[in-house]
Amino acid sequence: MEKKEMLYEGKAKKVFATEDPALCIVSYKDDATAFNGEKKGTIVGKGVVNNRMSNFMFKLLEKNGVPTDFVEELSDRDTVLKKVQIVPLEVIVRNKAAGSFSKRFGVPEGTAFKAPTLEYCLKDDALGDPMINDSQIIAIGAATREELDTIAKYTMKINEVMVAFFKECKVDLIDFKIEFGRLPDGTIILADEISPDTCRFWDVDTQEKLDKDRFRRDMGGVEEAYAEMMKRVGLAD
Ligand code: 5GP
Repeated sequence: MEKKEMLYEGKAKKVFATEDPALCIVSYKDDATAFNGEKKGTIVGKGVVNNRMSNFMFKLLEKNGVPTDFVEELSDRDTVLKKVQIVPLEVIVRNKAAGSFSKRFGVPEGTAFKAPTLEYCLKDDALGDPMINDSQIIAIGAATREELDTIAKYTMKINEVMVAFFKECKVDLIDFKIEFGRLPDGTIILADEISPDTCRFWDVDTQEKLDKDRFRRDMGGVEEAYAEMMKRVGLAD
C-alpha cells in the first residue's frame, strides 16, 4: 500500500490517502508540542517509538475485545489505519493524581485514587480543549448517549488491560488520553494513538517519569525516557 495525497497534517502526525477509500496511512513525526501548541520542539526518534508502541498496544487491545483502527504497520513510522470520523472528545482516565487534576483539585501528584476517574475534554484547540460532561456532550451533539456508553465501556476495559500490562513492565500507568472514531456504519472504534505522548508512565519503584512530562516540564532526558519505554515493553531493537 502506498501514500497518495496528504489529507491532514497534525502536530505529531501526517495522514495520507491510499488507493482504498476506506483506509489511510499515518506517518509519525518527531515534532513535539505542549500547552496547546505554545511549546514546540523535537524529540529525536519519538515518531518511531509512538508508531511502534501504539500499534503494539492496539493489537493487545484488539485481543482483549476492543475494536481499533489498526490495520498494518508498514515501517518504523508508517501504519495503515481504517479511516474514521473522529469523535471530538479527549477521553482521559486517571489511576493516580497528576497534571491538570492535581492543579484543579489540589490533590498532590502521585496520590492513589480509590477508583479510576473518567473525564472528557472537548477537542477544540481554539477553546483550549475544555472539560465537558456527559449531558453537555449530548446537548451539543458531540456524541450520542449510546456512543458515550460504548466509549465508557471500552475505556474502562482499556484501562484494565493497560494497567496490568504496564505493571509487568515495572511501569505505573498514572493516566492517559485516548480518542475514538466512527466507521461509516457508525461503529465506535479506538483511534489515534497510545504512547508516551498520551500516557503518564512512572517507574514502579522510583516513580521516575518516563513520558512526555519530561518535555513539558523541561526535565531533560526526554529521548532516553522514550527509549526506556520501548525497552520496558519489549520493542527495543
Ligand atoms: P492532564 O489533563 O493531566 O494534562 O493530562 C492527563 C493525561 O492525558 C496525560 O497522560 C496526558 O498525556 C494526556 N493528555 C491530555 N490532553 C492531551 C493532549 O492534548 N495531548 C496529548 N498528547 N496528551 C494529552
